[in-house]
Amino acid sequence: MKYKLKYTLIFLLNFIFILTIFTDGMIKTYELSDMAFSEDVDLNENTISGKKKIIYLTFDDGPSYKVTNDVLDVLKENGVNATFFIIGNQIKGKEDVLKRIYNEGNGIGLHTYTHKLSKIYSREDVFIEEMIECRNEINEVIGISPNIIRFPCGSNKRLNKNYLKRLHDEGFRIYDWNLDNTDGLNSKLSPDTLYRKAIKGSENFQEIILLLHCTDMHKNTCKALPQIIKYYKSKGYEFKVITENTPELYFHMKRITSK
Ligand SMILES: [Zn+2]
Repeated sequence: MKYKLKYTLIFLLNFIFILTIFTDGMIKTYELSDMAFSEDVDLNENTISGKKKIIYLTFDDGPSYKVTNDVLDVLKENGVNATFFIIGNQIKGKEDVLKRIYNEGNGIGLHTYTHKLSKIYSREDVFIEEMIECRNEINEVIGISPNIIRFPCGSNKRLNKNYLKRLHDEGFRIYDWNLDNTDGLNSKLSPDTLYRKAIKGSENFQEIILLLHCTDMHKNTCKALPQIIKYYKSKGYEFKVITENTPELYFHMKRITSK
């Protein structure tokens, strides 16, 4: 009986010893992985949960002569690029501006030919024809045929499953936005207000498509731009241009990642 107790005690002590090593190991592993994770976040600010943070600056309604050129100057000074959703009938007389957008490495998308809402949203056919017309106009000036499109005022309530399929069959890729500096509603807001709106809520997004405008009414957007760029750089965002390989983004529709 005495021996039995002794062996039981030895067995128990061994068991506790092994358990201690095992749990200690577990804790150490946990601490290590935890450290690796926080190190990743602390030392490399351009990741959230190990994924890259990306911002796509997008400018609608150009080209304009003054402001689009000024925007291009700011982008160049800061070594970043943006994507311009072009209105077809705005190109004439501003071919040099379109060429400059393209030659300086920026993305080019379609934003219809007239931007006249009553016309472009009258029928799906008209909308598609306007996009093609815009694409042809761009092609005549710079020799490329972009297929990335943006609905004027957004696809909200204008896009449904069948229409989406039709647009995809035409080869188009659709890009709404998830952040907006609201210069489309009021171009006269102060540069500081436009800056604050352009960053508000950005912490919620791994990838940001920021809506901005570059008609000649949007001088304040251009004034806010250096600060906007500085902010996103400081937060570790990578500035990218939208291409046909960029995952699409639709309002109120799930983001589709496959082409
Ligand atoms: Zn527009």
